[in-house]
Amino acid sequence: MTRILYAHPIKESLHLSLKDTVQKLKNSGVIPWLRVVLVGKDPASQIYTKNKKKFIEGLGGKCDIIHIKEDVTEQSFKSEVKSLSSEKGVHGFLIQLPLPKQLSHIDAGNLIPPSLDVDGLNSLNMGELLKEDIHKSSFCACTPKGIVTLLDYYDIPIEGKEICVIGRSLIVGKPLSVLLTNRNGTVTLCHSKTENLERHTSKADIIIVAIGSPKFLKAHHLNPNKQQAIIDVGINKSQQGKLLGDVDFENVKESVAAITPVPGGVGPLTILSLAQNLLQAAEKTL
Ligand code: NAP
Repeated sequence: MTRILYAHPIKESLHLSLKDTVQKLKNSGVIPWLRVVLVGKDPASQIYTKNKKKFIEGLGGKCDIIHIKEDVTEQSFKSEVKSLSSEKGVHGFLIQLPLPKQLSHIDAGNLIPPSLDVDGLNSLNMGELLKEDIHKSSFCACTPKGIVTLLDYYDIPIEGKEICVIGRSLIVGKPLSVLLTNRNGTVTLCHSKTENLERHTSKADIIIVAIGSPKFLKAHHLNPNKQQAIIDVGINKSQQGKLLGDVDFENVKESVAAITPVPGGVGPLTILSLAQNLLQAAEKTL
């Protein structure tokens, strides 16, 4: 029987302890404060930022979303970010991606002071990840951190296992491959130039897909003789507006031991990781 790896029991199990941490911080006079910069009116980004705000406020923290005009110039964007991120009392700061065309070349993570970089995208935090494990690192990128939380919660072993990560972006695939290596997994990082993808996916105990291509992973990528766990990071919209993952869920679900749904799998854990990072940042100020 295939296990469906839902996020909601994880969120429920951690919610109380996160709330408790917020309360303890408040008792010490600290209200965890996340500031989010949103440039323009991209509908998906508006939803993502609202969800972040709702979650942080639900824990008792503070979250403000700063809206910046779509056509902002590079110079005024950078100076606004500098002034917004230097306000006293802000513990976490993030710039919602993607940025509009005229800003898309900017390394947003490096505009944020490392101590506020709760998305884990500043070069310093990325570098720390290479040296540390998930608990010690400064701030770990949220989606990779959420995936490790999910594997741990469902007792899916990492150590010694063959793990195939498909997609090598800076926000998901690359930091995830480092995190899993730090946890003693044997990681193969695949991308669009990988030859014979099946050779890698078929030997994996865990396959993690983060490529942005709806229903890409199918049964022919899998190994029926292995108990494989599939983690679907993709969030794609069909023409009918339905959310689709990078895995063809219906096509593979009978052939695997465990699989995350989309929606309701990796997505909510990204926000959970963000909250964990924010509280870590706030605790550091005590
Ligand atoms: P990205 O920056 O667009 O990178 C895509 C990666 O996939 C690249 O490394 C690319 O290879 C690789 N790729 C593309 N087509 C491929 C193929 N046919 N075979 C093998 N590799 C292929 O993507 P991203 O930002 O990591 O996002 C990936 C997906 O995850 C998107 O659907 C996004 O919406 C979703 N996402 C979800 C969450 C969440 O919280 N659930 C968070 C972040 C992202 P090259 O490097 O060779 O080009």
